[in-house]
Amino acid sequence: MRETLAPPFRIKAVEYVRLPDRGERERILREAGYSPFRIRSEEVYIDLLTDSGTAAMSDEQWAAMMRGDEAYVGSRNYYRFEGVVREITGFEHVIPTHQGRAAENVLFGSLIKPGDIIPGNTHFDTTRAHIVDKGGRPIDLIGEWLWDFEHEYPFKGNLDPARLEYILKEHHERIPFILLTGVNNVACSSPISMENIKETRELAERYDIPIYIDACRFFENCYLIKLRESGYHNKSVAEIVREALSYADGCYMSCKKDGLVNIGGFVSVGDEELAQRCRERLVLYEGFPTYGGLARRDLEVMAVGLMEGLDERYLEWRIRQVEYLGELFSRLGVRVSRPTGGSGVFVDVYSIYPHLTDEKLPEVALFADMYLEGGVRMVGAPFPVDFVDLERGEVERRSFKFARFAIPRRALTKAHMEYVAAVMGRVTERSRLNKGFRVVYWPEILGHFFARFEPIG
Ligand SMILES: *Cc1c(COP(=O)(O)O)cnc(C)c1O
Repeated sequence: MRETLAPPFRIKAVEYVRLPDRGERERILREAGYSPFRIRSEEVYIDLLTDSGTAAMSDEQWAAMMRGDEAYVGSRNYYRFEGVVREITGFEHVIPTHQGRAAENVLFGSLIKPGDIIPGNTHFDTTRAHIVDKGGRPIDLIGEWLWDFEHEYPFKGNLDPARLEYILKEHHERIPFILLTGVNNVACSSPISMENIKETRELAERYDIPIYIDACRFFENCYLIKLRESGYHNKSVAEIVREALSYADGCYMSCKKDGLVNIGGFVSVGDEELAQRCRERLVLYEGFPTYGGLARRDLEVMAVGLMEGLDERYLEWRIRQVEYLGELFSRLGVRVSRPTGGSGVFVDVYSIYPHLTDEKLPEVALFADMYLEGGVRMVGAPFPVDFVDLERGEVERRSFKFARFAIPRRALTKAHMEYVAAVMGRVTERSRLNKGFRVVYWPEILGHFFARFEPIG
């Protein structure tokens, strides 16, 4: 399987895609203000914008759709879902939400008060926004390695314990919890190690501070632990997930990633009183605790998807597919973060556009060129990181710029990866002709979703 990338499934339904001709692509790009967020799906040939909610469902999941018990209260789908999540996480309380950020809203709203500090390895963009929304301050305890694409460390997602120690010593009274994200999307989808989770636990225990895990891609993370960390090769991914979560007080998950569904998520915690507070917020923002903002059939579909997401034949294929695209890019001389991790391939845009300075937006240039050359959609953006400078004892806002080729789960074949690499080959040959872009519009909150650009010259 590793050599051929033959998937552990066959295809039962197909969805046609179309490549608009070059003239159309030019017009579409111009009208979209060169933003991937303004292009219609029908105008895209291969969509690598995100791995979120874009998975292909299995026949078992589609069958589960028909098993909806659409009762407002106490649907049997809820109890099945609760059982599966309990089994996976080991936490007693299971609170369904319609997606990951809704889980963040419910959990963070129950834990954060204004002035609090929330340290983490690096916070995802909606995570950061929800912390700020509750009056908290996110801090990213990542090391200098984040900015180094060439650094071949197997666990680039790790939280830096030296930085955590410093922050705990200075601010422990204002820290309600520590958040660990695995895989760490900001750190190029590299995992966190079990050792790092344990070390975080030991430090947190000194001050009696709980740990929560943002588990959107935690199955991929734990599969990578199995591959890369000594002592785990003979454990099942399910066992590794349980062990990792045993060092935490709870977790939340957008099941749109490793849960292999198009919509859905949950919060799962051990503490009864916290669960009750979450459920009260849930009623306000999502729905009654036995459906949480979803149709009941969606809970059934998630229960199936979560189990399929843990299947190791699937995970082996998935992680290898990501790795394969990374290898194809590397062969073209494109600098990618290695070893590759979970959600997709992360590219250093300066390796393709060495002549473009930061202000000339090489990440926008890459999107425009990939779309123009082959109808491929992906995205590049600067990611804000609240970095702790240990020498100066200050937290400074930095940014980390990358382009992400996110790979939807179970939806694309090896040939699609080869097509994307062929387009990348044409882009790298012509990249010198691109003179860069300037911003026309960039609003304050989550600006990259709404921005518009224009080419320079
Ligand atoms: C996707 C994601 C979220 C938010 O989940 P949504 O389902 O998109 O709302 C939170 N954290 C991480 C790490 C994610 O990848």
